[in-house]
Amino acid sequence: MCGIAGYVGYGDTLSILLQLLIELQHRGQEASGIAVVTKDGRLYVVSGKGLVSEIFSYSHIDIPRENVFGGIGHVRYATSGGYMDAVTQPIAIGDRIKIAIAFNGTIANYKLLANEYRLKVSSDTEFFANAIYIETMENKGDVVEALKVLAEKIIGGYSIVVLTNEPRIIFAKDPRGFRPLSYVYNGDELYIASETSALETVVGGVWREVEPGEIIVFDGTSIERTAARKIYDPTPCVFEYVYFSRIDSVFNGVSIYTSRIRMGIELAKMDNIEADVVIPVPDSGRAAAIGYSKASGIPIEEGIYANKYLGRGFITPPHIRDYVSRLKYGFIKSVVDGKKVVLVDDSIVRGTTMRSIVLRLREAGASEVHVRIASPPFRYPCFMGIDVASRQELLAWSSMTLEDIRKSIGADSILYNTVDALTRAVGLCSLCTACFTGRYPFNGYTASDLENMFSR
Ligand code: SF4
Repeated sequence: MCGIAGYVGYGDTLSILLQLLIELQHRGQEASGIAVVTKDGRLYVVSGKGLVSEIFSYSHIDIPRENVFGGIGHVRYATSGGYMDAVTQPIAIGDRIKIAIAFNGTIANYKLLANEYRLKVSSDTEFFANAIYIETMENKGDVVEALKVLAEKIIGGYSIVVLTNEPRIIFAKDPRGFRPLSYVYNGDELYIASETSALETVVGGVWREVEPGEIIVFDGTSIERTAARKIYDPTPCVFEYVYFSRIDSVFNGVSIYTSRIRMGIELAKMDNIEADVVIPVPDSGRAAAIGYSKASGIPIEEGIYANKYLGRGFITPPHIRDYVSRLKYGFIKSVVDGKKVVLVDDSIVRGTTMRSIVLRLREAGASEVHVRIASPPFRYPCFMGIDVASRQELLAWSSMTLEDIRKSIGADSILYNTVDALTRAVGLCSLCTACFTGRYPFNGYTASDLENMFSR
């Protein structure tokens, strides 16, 4: 999961991109970057490891403010290529034609494709940039054609923005539409962002979502829409609704907040526990906890404080996850002491955070802790944009029973939503739910096939 942004217009490109990226910071906190191109085709890139406010806090940033055509930006959460040595984005490449790309997703078969293109690369980001460049040169400088060729070869999920020194901006989604991407075009200016909430906050106006497989080009005067040669039934990532996206965003026309409320309602409909208080795991469990409380009649209270300066737990790099999960939360004894607690969270992926929270609720005096999870057990890895590429990382890997999971996190009971309930809560008939079911939307590829492909 990463955040991408773009802007073309008469405004201050650097300032607008910074605003969009700050609004997307929840999608990645490891690295941030911006590329801009001037009207006469000079391309500038500034990126580094850290938050947007850290990388762009200096008074002098080597990015022009005058004569600018537009730019793109990226906030990074590593999905491949490791954490410490990961490539920051945007990544720029080329000589006569220069391009910069920023993308959100994972290319599961990038090692196989890198062999086909005779490329030596260390990540899917490097592969994608190089492959787009090669295909652009093979197709008479046409980035759109390059994206069409690659859309047919790639197994994975992506949303992408490309900036060229022609100058043009091109943005697209993979043909199954796994990741969000939206834009506002008002005739003079174009704003692009991974999530609608960033657009609403920074620019307002009427946004549109990019369709699966859609490729849109803006040269500063007119916008052109085209599409990948083959479009599949859309399979947007259900985890965007469960966790990734902000609650004030809309994805495929569905409000993230409303879907999370409905996840809590669905969960409560299956439950019959008697308890004193519903406590959300902040912040991502809150909306589901509200839904659960409404449907169950058990009052909801804040019992846990989350230190926002430590970022989002799931996207914390692995080498610091253990101590971050301990430092991140504070517990309100007056709310939980002597109470039977229903603890609601969006998901359990690795289990590190949940184990620590259950233990510390008991230390704060909770007499019982009943864990309720808005999504089903996360049993299979993802190869379409999140950092779980091996089953061994998952608490609920495919052979683990619910009782094993309950014991592992130390809860009195555990209940998950079912895949059907989750699908009902989102309200779309076609979704990717592969991390819960093991059914990947790629012509019968299994988790093992994709694991082998990814690690080959
Ligand atoms: S496997 Fe899960 S996290 Fe990955 S795209 Fe599908 S639903 Fe999203």
